Amino acid sequence: MCPTSPRRTASPSVAGSPSVGVLALQGDVREHAALLAHLGAEVVLVRRPEELAAVDGLVLPGGESSVIDKLSRVFGMQEPIRSAITDGLPVYGTCAGLILLADEIADGIEGQESFGGMDVTVRRNAFGRQVESFETELDAPVLGAPMVRATFIRAPIVERVGAGVEVLAALEDGRIVAVRQGALLGTSFHPEVDGDSRFHELLLERVRIRADERGR
Ligand code: GLN
Repeated sequence: MCPTSPRRTASPSVAGSPSVGVLALQGDVREHAALLAHLGAEVVLVRRPEELAAVDGLVLPGGESSVIDKLSRVFGMQEPIRSAITDGLPVYGTCAGLILLADEIADGIEGQESFGGMDVTVRRNAFGRQVESFETELDAPVLGAPMVRATFIRAPIVERVGAGVEVLAALEDGRIVAVRQGALLGTSFHPEVDGDSRFHELLLERVRIRADERGR
């Protein structure tokens, strides 16, 4: 006699999966979406205010910050993203995304703006032309062991951090490459390229808290 198979209901991890957006105007959207999906998040590609309103967290991908800035204004996304950040939306920016989270940009192109929210100054293309990209191992105490394998591609550096900003990782020479302020997280490098999911997990912790608060 065959035992009857139990009826499958949606597993809690699926039913409770947080909804995370990836700003999909330009940049390495696909890599972030794949990593977030691997972590069990429901991924939404965000291009419009309605899509932004439906998510409990957002990733600003790597790419070209001046282009993402311009497109965000063309698509009417700058103000919605700014007010979502002010309203406490958890956001993780990698590379160009970190530049977009900075209250102040150094070496931006003429007229370049950011969404802001983090009390930091971030210098674009801080490693100059000779060093377009490199990889290194970073100690990020907040993540514990092992060290982070970090890929830097025409990367920015955090030059100034305000009082409320936590430094999560720095290069051996002291230059700051990972920061957190409240629900905002930024890295100069690209964990989504190396498949290290631990920074995305930090984002998801915040996203779950946010989703709970909003009764989702
Ligand atoms: N140099 C780019 C910028 O200014 C950032 C590069 C990246 O995201 N990999 O936006």
